[in-house]
Amino acid sequence: MIIHLKPNSLPNQIAQIAERLEAIYVKLGEKDVLIFSHKVKEIPESIADQVGQVFHFDSDIQLAAKSYKKKQDAIHLGKEQLGGNSQNTMMMAGPCSVESLEQITESASFLSGLGITTMRAGCFKPRTSPYTFQGLGQRGLELLSEMRAKYGLKIITEVKDSSHVNQVIEMADIVQIGTKAMYDQSILTACGKSSKPVLLKRGFGTTLQEFVQAAEFIMCRGNEQVILCERGIRTFETKTRFTLDLTGVAYLKEYTNLPIVVDPSHAMGYRYGVPDLARAAVAMGIDGLLIETHPNPSQAKSDADQQLDHAAFAELYASLGKVANAVNRKLI
Ligand code: PEP
Ligand code: MN
Repeated sequence: MIIHLKPNSLPNQIAQIAERLEAIYVKLGEKDVLIFSHKVKEIPESIADQVGQVFHFDSDIQLAAKSYKKKQDAIHLGKEQLGGNSQNTMMMAGPCSVESLEQITESASFLSGLGITTMRAGCFKPRTSPYTFQGLGQRGLELLSEMRAKYGLKIITEVKDSSHVNQVIEMADIVQIGTKAMYDQSILTACGKSSKPVLLKRGFGTTLQEFVQAAEFIMCRGNEQVILCERGIRTFETKTRFTLDLTGVAYLKEYTNLPIVVDPSHAMGYRYGVPDLARAAVAMGIDGLLIETHPNPSQAKSDADQQLDHAAFAELYASLGKVANAVNRKLI
């Protein structure tokens, strides 16, 4: 249950009341909001005279529920907008990892040349093997800052664990929480207390309910700028790396108020399927795409099999504009 309190309630008193009632108190914009488990249906007597609007839910998808708010406000990234009523489909592209000054400069120069405004690249990589490239860490963040300054790109980069979450929040324009970190409550809480947009990837073994509840952990701390990213889930199928759950995307569109981004690269795991999946996703009317592209994919230090080379990426990008227009969206 979400309760909007009447204006002029005293914050200190509300915080104490919230603690006593096992509710979360959060300020959302100008509003003082109390959030209880969805199982609580009765308004506590001690706050009865302070209660404004009340919302009930059938699960703990509350702040992210369409029944609470039709759409979250658009996320502003420089001059561009993602989500809200913008009707934009934002391309976020770049290599899996920052590998060197040369590699990231070539990537940034290529993407900005195409008119793309947001570049992705990881510095803290959550690898499956401890014996492979783990990312450049802080040095990688510095290189990304240089690219932002030189090419005017917005940067999306991932946080792997709570030891560097504040470094990433400080540097990134969008903080990415990866499929393996989706359950990490210290990362979710730190992102919830920040004012940076957060791209939350669905854990590859999580249900849609668990996925959106992870978003609730961020939102209930005051940061409503959460972007949901479908990146493939594990099924019985082994021919592809994961299975892109577009049925799940349809569910998220219908029941949540958050922008939705699709990552076909990690779902497929191979270059050959990425363009078709990207077009299928854009045809669904999504808010953005996350796609891996590398100047020299076969030499990539992570996810070499799935990254598009620049020529293939440019061809895909050209084809996506038409698909977006066909569903009344604009590819940006
Ligand atoms: C990535 O975006 O490079 C990445 C590691 O993604 P995921 O968390 O979806 O595996
Ligand atoms: Mn990757």
